[in-house]
Amino acid sequence: MFRQTKSVFQKLRYLSFNGQQHTWRLKSTSARERALQYQPGQKIHGFTVKEVVAVPDLFLTAVKLMHDKTGAQYLHAARDDSNNLFSVQFRTTPMDSTGVPHILEHTVLCGSEKYPCRDPFFKMLNRSLSTFMNAFTASDYTMYPFSTQNGKDFQNLLSVYLDAVFFPCLREQDFWQEGWRLENEDPTDNNSPLMFKGVVFNEMKGAFSDNERLYAQHLQNKLYPDHTYSVVSGGEPLAIPDLTWEQLKQFHATHYHPSNARFFTYGDLPLEPHLKQIQEEALSKFACIDPKTEVPSQPRWTSPKEDHVTCSPDPLAPDPNKQNTVCVSYLLGDITDAFEGLTLSLLSSLMISGPNSPFYKSLIEPKLGTDFSSVVGYDGSTKEASFSIGLQGVDEEDIERVKQIISQTIDKIIENGFEERRIEALIHKLEIQIKHQTTNFGLSLASYIASSWNHDGDPVELLQISDSVAKFRQALKENPRFLQEKVRQYFKENTHRLTLSMSPEESYLEKQAKAEEEKLQKKIEVLSDSDRKQIYEKGLELLAAQSQTQDVSCLPALKVSDIEPTIPITPVQISTAGGVPVQYCEQPTNGLVYFRALCNLNTLPEDLKVFVPLFCSVITKMGCGALDYRQQAQQMELRTGGMSVSTQVITDCNELDTYEQGILLSSSCLERNLPHMFQLWSDIFNSPHFDDEERLRVLVMQSAQELANSIAYSGHLYAMTRAGRHLTPAGDLQETFGGMEQVTFMKRTAAMADLSQIIRTLPRLKIHLFNPNNMRCAINSTPEKVSDAAAHLEGFIKDVAKNRKERKPVRPNIIEKPINPLDDNGPRRKLISEPTFHPCPMKTFFQMPFPVNFVSESIRAVPFSHKDYASLCILARMMTAKFLHGEIREKGGAYGGGAKIGGGLFTFYSYRDPNTVQTLSAFGNGIEWAKSGKFTQQDIDEAKLSVFSAVDSPVAPADKGMGQFLSGVTDEMKQSHRQRLFAVDHKNLVDVAERYLSAGQKTCGVAILGPENDVIKKDPSWIIK
Ligand SMILES: [Zn+2]
Repeated sequence: MFRQTKSVFQKLRYLSFNGQQHTWRLKSTSARERALQYQPGQKIHGFTVKEVVAVPDLFLTAVKLMHDKTGAQYLHAARDDSNNLFSVQFRTTPMDSTGVPHILEHTVLCGSEKYPCRDPFFKMLNRSLSTFMNAFTASDYTMYPFSTQNGKDFQNLLSVYLDAVFFPCLREQDFWQEGWRLENEDPTDNNSPLMFKGVVFNEMKGAFSDNERLYAQHLQNKLYPDHTYSVVSGGEPLAIPDLTWEQLKQFHATHYHPSNARFFTYGDLPLEPHLKQIQEEALSKFACIDPKTEVPSQPRWTSPKEDHVTCSPDPLAPDPNKQNTVCVSYLLGDITDAFEGLTLSLLSSLMISGPNSPFYKSLIEPKLGTDFSSVVGYDGSTKEASFSIGLQGVDEEDIERVKQIISQTIDKIIENGFEERRIEALIHKLEIQIKHQTTNFGLSLASYIASSWNHDGDPVELLQISDSVAKFRQALKENPRFLQEKVRQYFKENTHRLTLSMSPEESYLEKQAKAEEEKLQKKIEVLSDSDRKQIYEKGLELLAAQSQTQDVSCLPALKVSDIEPTIPITPVQISTAGGVPVQYCEQPTNGLVYFRALCNLNTLPEDLKVFVPLFCSVITKMGCGALDYRQQAQQMELRTGGMSVSTQVITDCNELDTYEQGILLSSSCLERNLPHMFQLWSDIFNSPHFDDEERLRVLVMQSAQELANSIAYSGHLYAMTRAGRHLTPAGDLQETFGGMEQVTFMKRTAAMADLSQIIRTLPRLKIHLFNPNNMRCAINSTPEKVSDAAAHLEGFIKDVAKNRKERKPVRPNIIEKPINPLDDNGPRRKLISEPTFHPCPMKTFFQMPFPVNFVSESIRAVPFSHKDYASLCILARMMTAKFLHGEIREKGGAYGGGAKIGGGLFTFYSYRDPNTVQTLSAFGNGIEWAKSGKFTQQDIDEAKLSVFSAVDSPVAPADKGMGQFLSGVTDEMKQSHRQRLFAVDHKNLVDVAERYLSAGQKTCGVAILGPENDVIKKDPSWIIK
């Protein structure tokens, strides 16, 4: 539901820890081997095994089954990974834009036959140790996945999910709450004006305030104009009020049927119990139907088409005159052909990825636009794939030119083909992706196979990536013009292509608002007095239902005693290489080596700080040593899994006014490429290229565009960062690096006619940032490769020794702390302390062209190791689940909202929210609710489960030991925190709410991003931006 970006949650992410290290424990028989023993034709609990295939590349065994009575399809991927996953997906192919599949996705989660309480889905978040729970509506399917590391929990969640999708209540009230309704603005006042309300209604208004999303939607609708892809599956805001409750129930009956379902399970739990439970609790109650949900092929056009749409102007666009998007989209072949799909997606990467690709050279480098269009490259999410290429941030006068270049570039590719080294680099990248261990592998697999399987493609064939790669190599060998011929067939000679342009329209928002008003009036006109009375009464009923305490005892739950009492220790060794501290962590990394270096900013002059994010984003992309930027990109692709640099602001775990500031270098490579990876870093340290102004301008424009685009999607993060700005010294730096301040700085920079000032500044930053005196490193690798990695690291430090300089820190108070808190004599990290810092309350409003708000309030609280931190963690979770969710989402109609603690701040937020001041009152009422102590032991236990499911979420081998490396948080400290979490009781919670959050006690900051707001405008306590 929420995507977290680095700036705010960095620290939280590194505090998470894997409690159950089941993933790599030794077993007598592995899950993979056990699964290999199934035989095709074998009958298990109403299913028949169809196929059993070992997929050694992905370390799994695939078992394909079919349900005998209903024809439901099933795929199990047995793999020795304890993070087990379940998902069920239905082919949902709406023929109008009322958002029926999306509203249904929300509504089935509002209560079911066996679990009739309101909103069991959200309730289960607090009764489970799930590592993931969600639901998605795609263009042509709806998917319900969850994952957990606990077997009992898996059964519980499976039971709730099955009942939700197959036997939902679908009450009228659920439809009003989640879909749309007419209601008095103030539901308790029947004289207040009527308006549209509903969670999906507001969610989609918010979604289409994002111009990138809007463009993508138009493009799909217009490229496939003849069937389900021509409508908006999520819901066109003004079409949503055409949906009736009856239509919703009908859609469920025809689409959420086993005969239209695909089940997927993944992990180390045995298959049979899953089948048994699915058969007994759901499938046995159904017969076979023909769901008639197939999507026909799109009839091909005989000549290309052009079209035009409009959007709202973006005040943060780097150049206000350049706000057009134009792109050409080509309809390709059926995605169920796995080999053709892989070929086309590889071809797409060759055409558009990185500075060596032909489209990068022909479209990005001449700077006709700020970046590629939001839709670019191969897209296999529809039954027939598409490829799109174009630019955003284009001047209207240049649109024709862009179209010409696209067609010329295609001709050139057909003539010249691709360099062999680029093809090698691409295949190397694929190899790394397969080897890199992630913690959500099951979920990645589920989404990887979802689209093709949805149209009856073979999911097992899709998993056999190496076979397809071998076939690809063979095809190239047999026919050197293999790829060029594909380009001719799919691009040059393809008449089913659409050129779509989008331009800003000054009155866009006004027109939208007017259209909504007209729609509303139409609905209101036909109301009789008794209709109005009914609306008022229904509004009150809904409000009463939302305010009622729920009996959730019907729902299964884990107990606090099911949580592991202790965490396993992750051993790390700390030593030095060439005088630089290094942390080594031995992990099953599957043949990859992960390298990180943290370089502090303590000697960097204050006026240069705002440039640090820009430095980070360009430093690995401008060329280095003997390599120009194209050669550097080539080397990085051929020899590494990527090299990146990011900013770090880490509040100290003991002291709120102390923090560490730095940049983090990260890269990975196959063991055999260690020397090449460190050579690249040496060149970047010793002789980075900064003086290519043309290249710099391309990168600056891309960054500025990316930041401007991120606000519509991550507005809550910007609001939270701003709210915390004046509460801690670290908060101020966070705002500089990742807040609205950085967005406006980059907009200004991108607008500069002359970048020579930046070109002079970057080398000054380099002197301070690449100083081995201010650096510490970390290596994660297999035990066998540690000494090899250490030797190469040593060589790297020696190579960059000339950058070593003794410099004076800028701030007077530097505190040194041992990297290993248990070893006072070991290597140390240097933190900034601001003992005289005064937090200051501030309220900031950013007026934005959105129809929805992002609201945040942040309160200065305590650091991680403080004894009250655990109580505040539980309180934030409990307040979110038991109070704020009801007020902000259910009653307020926002897409989401809650409270969190991190970086020493207790922070409230809302996401895509129709309200502002009302939400701020909800935050305040949340605090009053906590102080009143009107919650039960069950509420506390649920909050604990929820907190622990985050604390114990799995950590990938690449990320083990990072909490200690970055924040100095050791396993012992985590264990103490864990014990404090277990111990939190009712009294503690009331107590911390009073002492930290009460009006008289707190220092807080508030920030809102949203549309013009009269109430706030009139209130002089706000700063309006
Ligand atoms: Zn939704």
